[in-house]
Amino acid sequence: MLLDKLNNLGNAASWDSCGGVKQKSFRKAGIPLQYEKFVHDCSGTSEACRLMKVLQSNKCIHDCRYCVNSGGKQQKTELSPLEMADGFELLWRRGIVEGLFLSSAVTKNAEETTEKMIESARIIRRNGFKGYIHLKVLPSTPKHQIFEMAGIASRISLNIETPSKEYLSELGSTKDYFNDLEKRIKWISEAKGKGLVHSFTTQFMVGGAGEKDEEIIKKMNSLYENTLLYRSYFSAFQPIKGTPMEKMNAENESREYSLYQVDWLLRIYGFSEKEISSVLNEKGFLPLGKDVKREIALKNEGMFPVDINNAGKEELLRVPAIGPKTVEKIIQRREKKKFMELRELKEIGLITRKAQVFIQLEKGIQKSIFSFV
Ligand code: SF4
Repeated sequence: MLLDKLNNLGNAASWDSCGGVKQKSFRKAGIPLQYEKFVHDCSGTSEACRLMKVLQSNKCIHDCRYCVNSGGKQQKTELSPLEMADGFELLWRRGIVEGLFLSSAVTKNAEETTEKMIESARIIRRNGFKGYIHLKVLPSTPKHQIFEMAGIASRISLNIETPSKEYLSELGSTKDYFNDLEKRIKWISEAKGKGLVHSFTTQFMVGGAGEKDEEIIKKMNSLYENTLLYRSYFSAFQPIKGTPMEKMNAENESREYSLYQVDWLLRIYGFSEKEISSVLNEKGFLPLGKDVKREIALKNEGMFPVDINNAGKEELLRVPAIGPKTVEKIIQRREKKKFMELRELKEIGLITRKAQVFIQLEKGIQKSIFSFV
């Protein structure tokens, strides 16, 4: 019975990203197949975790057109807080999962559903689990509950879904972009500012509402500038049978991948929105299937070659294949001894074939990027 419920509620939660990676093969991950629907292996991401990923309930008052839980027509499956905690404990004690990702459809109202999610997490903590718990903030969750969730969870998140209210209205009629989503994001940020939660994240659905990459990038950057958002996730639209959007085409997953690259460039590499916009096409989309950072470098030829032995961190980070860790290694090493040849960069782990046309070393100067491409 509990396994049936977990299967139902795990299946219903599968559209939500937990780590920016696709689910691994269960055989490869060594997870028993009967747990396939509600155990997700997100190892390989910075969060590195096997998660029990389920909804508290699957019957929703909202009418999101892409979602199998919408409209309240489906048969309700719900786990009580005790059942949720028992299910988790069973998997955790056997070493099958290391954490929990808990979301829910909004059964009667956000407050009542959220209370059950909070109680589930409370019991799990009382039972001695100190590891990763990710709680999803539902649209229109009251402020006091957001603060309560922040005090229990390792991470809380709220899906912004689209870059504007106009696009949200393409996906459904019951959620208010400002009140239900943006206002709650501000409150989560406030809780993070008070040190109550380690991190908070959001997720965009890509390609469901006809939005452009340009608009997603603008919204994401504004969230990074104006809130304490830790990172963004993206979920390429996939039509689900039985939903009003079942006949729409699935979004190309390369688009999701390009947006993940942009997220890293904004957040970790310190790129500006303007630099990223330089590679958008006239319709406002990123080049599909290409390395966004390399495309930016090719558009900004004047910034190269970068002098490996004298350039600052910002300049080094703009070289394709050079990330923050490699920058640190370069700086440490050049303080002792200058780099003379590509071979020496290879020795510290740089993929030189990707970087070499953009850099200058003591023993060689690239006159033009394009002469090497
Ligand atoms: S709020 Fe929308 S996306 Fe979330 S469960 Fe309800 S109908 Fe589905």
